[in-house]
Amino acid sequence: MQISLALPEILMYIAVKMKVNKSQDPKTVTIEVTLPLLPGSISTARSTCGKPQCACHADPDKRHGLYYRWTGVLNGKRTTKTLSREEALACQVRIRNYRALQQTIEALLRQALENAPWANREAK
Ligand SMILES: [Zn+2]
Repeated sequence: MQISLALPEILMYIAVKMKVNKSQDPKTVTIEVTLPLLPGSISTARSTCGKPQCACHADPDKRHGLYYRWTGVLNGKRTTKTLSREEALACQVRIRNYRALQQTIEALLRQALENAPWANREAK
């Protein structure tokens, strides 16, 4: 997927690669986004159950799990979802794509600050 857009709109997108189109309009950059994307993070946990006699209460190594969880913001609220291992692995791939895009945006923004309107003032 390729998105070509004017610089101020870049924040609305997520990307992995970026190249400035020197031969074309210098006010645009092409960002290559690897899909699918997912924000948030994956964590794992073990837990104890409600049965008082269960070994999980006495020995931390006998706790239940491993449980996989996704945590992120969903509809404006910090949310945790319990996942299967397969879902967690699929989420990891998407989160990696998203983080790569964030890095691309951060690099763009660093460059933007270097080229800010005040950057060309002559030293006095
Ligand atoms: Zn238990």
